[in-house]
Amino acid sequence: MWRGRLFFLCLALALLSGCAPGGPVAEAGADAQLPADKLIAITFDDGPRRNTTERLLDGLQERGASATFFLIGKQIEGNEDLVRRMQAEGHQVGSHTWNHVRLQGISRETLQREVGRTEETLEALLGGGPYWLRPPYGAVDAADRELLQVPMIKWSIDPRDWEKLNTAQVKAAVLENAAPNQIILLHDIYDTSVDAALEIVDTLQGEGYRFVTVQELLEANGIQPEAGVLYCSGDI
Ligand SMILES: [Zn+2]
Repeated sequence: MWRGRLFFLCLALALLSGCAPGGPVAEAGADAQLPADKLIAITFDDGPRRNTTERLLDGLQERGASATFFLIGKQIEGNEDLVRRMQAEGHQVGSHTWNHVRLQGISRETLQREVGRTEETLEALLGGGPYWLRPPYGAVDAADRELLQVPMIKWSIDPRDWEKLNTAQVKAAVLENAAPNQIILLHDIYDTSVDAALEIVDTLQGEGYRFVTVQELLEANGIQPEAGVLYCSGDI
């Protein structure tokens, strides 16, 4: 029960401000609970986009890094090979709705269509899911959570790469906040973000981090993801 309340708090705070409980890992008592590895998850929204996503996949493959991709459903057509490649190379694939709509204040029919159509497309392409959801803008009405049959993922490190469009600044903003069990948000539709992502992987791998999917990150922390719950990091 307490965990449910914690995640509800996370959701409530997330709607008000940034992500909670995200941010750097609390120092007190954290060491004893950490896995032997320093795990971190890097996630990419708003793709797939042919040039940038393909280059990112090449870079991740070279580095042996896993990532999580939250795809816009309507962009899958024509990029099916990239999406298959994500799955084949050990990345996690999730949904970011069909049209990138804000899931707040919309009808339940629209919400179910936006999520359902993307889910069906991914199932047809990759096989059975479930495909976890990243609500656009990290926002979803608490009242609609019961409709969503999958875990939802927010983030704990947001460098606002879409605004900076500057590799060095995006990299610095992520590295400043990097800590075990965090979830990094980037967008694989910008060249600057792809460049930053690969540099971030290089730097953090050099510091002993291992890049895993969000699902792997939660599992490593003993979290059993539940449908309709919004997770912000691997911290509990
Ligand atoms: Zn988005």
